[in-house]
Amino acid sequence: MATYDIAVIGNGLLGSAALRHLTVSCPKLKVCGIGPAEPRDRKTHQGVFASHYDQGRITRILDPSPLWGKLARESIARYSDIEAESGVGFHHRVGCLRATDIAERVADIDACAAAYEPPYKRLDAAGCKQAYPFLAFSDEFVAWDEAGEAGYINPRQLIEAQLKAAAKGGATIIREIVESLESCGDGVSVQTREGSVLRARKALLTAGGYSNTLLRRKLDMPTKSHTILLAELPPEEIEGLRGMPSIISSFDHLEVESLYMLPPVLYPDGKTYIKLGPSGRDEQFFDAMENDRELAPWFKSDGNPLTAADLKAALHRMIPNLKVLSYQTVPCLITYSAHGNPYIDALEAGRLYVTTAGNGMGAKSSDEIGRIGALLCATGEWHSDLNREDFRAVYMDGGRK
Ligand SMILES: Cc1cc2nc3c(=O)[nH]c(=O)nc-3n(C[C@H](O)[C@H](O)[C@H](O)COP(=O)(O)OP(=O)(O)OC[C@H]3O[C@@H](n4cnc5c(N)ncnc54)[C@H](O)[C@@H]3O)c2cc1C
Repeated sequence: MATYDIAVIGNGLLGSAALRHLTVSCPKLKVCGIGPAEPRDRKTHQGVFASHYDQGRITRILDPSPLWGKLARESIARYSDIEAESGVGFHHRVGCLRATDIAERVADIDACAAAYEPPYKRLDAAGCKQAYPFLAFSDEFVAWDEAGEAGYINPRQLIEAQLKAAAKGGATIIREIVESLESCGDGVSVQTREGSVLRARKALLTAGGYSNTLLRRKLDMPTKSHTILLAELPPEEIEGLRGMPSIISSFDHLEVESLYMLPPVLYPDGKTYIKLGPSGRDEQFFDAMENDRELAPWFKSDGNPLTAADLKAALHRMIPNLKVLSYQTVPCLITYSAHGNPYIDALEAGRLYVTTAGNGMGAKSSDEIGRIGALLCATGEWHSDLNREDFRAVYMDGGRK
């Protein structure tokens, strides 16, 4: 039977980052990452799904939460090293425009800007019109136009880069689905659906929205469905929107309270799409899941058509006269925590650790979240100047670690 010092369960954004950091910081440890690759066809797929099957995730430092601003800043600072180490590019510096008229958010984002000093300009409606003539906003909002490293990352390519670098550092990648995770002797026993059994001194659980399926005592982790819209653009629109930044806006669309939007991005089908989704609007809860099959019908669907219609209206309000060739809607999943920060904690000290709950914002910051989780698991110590209490796991029964 194969034995490891640490088994990371889930080769997604957080797991692949954790695995790479284990190989960098603890090169003597024998480590593996267990988790399947992306399904070839989600409609017929029989296994688990994930929250990263896409070509774009917005990256930026400015955030109403200083904790998230710091996680992003630390991660973004390492993007170019990860690209160089792996030979896989994933980072696009197109900038990020954030617009809001919510007073408390204005003060919080200004505080984040003062603390972390990313390059940005404050714009009003006239400034926005001048910088981005294709966007339509009415007056009375504040926008931060973040430059520098802000823009978007390709989550598939970031995972590929992390796993390549981890494998180069000696990690074993096992493309199987974990069926059970049990304490045994002075470690854990892991059994996969494909029939493998392995032992590890410690396990780090990073299975995203599926993490509760492997735990007897369930984490308080509201896992919610999320619908995105892809609008296919003709060549002249792609050209006309050159220079478009990633956008986060809680202003001026009647249909959705708040939305995020990426500039035109090339997808694997050879077509170029603008992608947008609603922030803070999720349709269905999948709490305390007993098994992964509960999520399959959602991932095999085309998402929620009502949300898709609202996103379509918001897109055309924000970019008037936009010519679109076709629309697609795609289902996704967002995994929240009780306190809005990721869970990075020891569930059984010395044996079982967790790093999960990206709260819809985890992609850009995955390298730092994974690093903190990896080092906590390897050393039992907290290696960050962020407050450990802010990341404590909370259980569904109300208990905290
Ligand atoms: C539509 C959408 C838009 C988003 N936009 C942004 C954005 O713009 N910027 C941003 O920063 N973040 C964004 N996010 C959030 C970000 O994608 C997530 O926070 C991130 O994917 C979480 O990473 P994770 O590793 O926890 O989970 P995942 O990326 O879902 O990875 C979990 C992994 O665990 C594996 N797994 C599951 N069960 C098992 C099992 N039993 N055995 C083995 N492996 C298992 C899965 O195969 C998967 O690979 C968005 C999310 C969605 C859904």
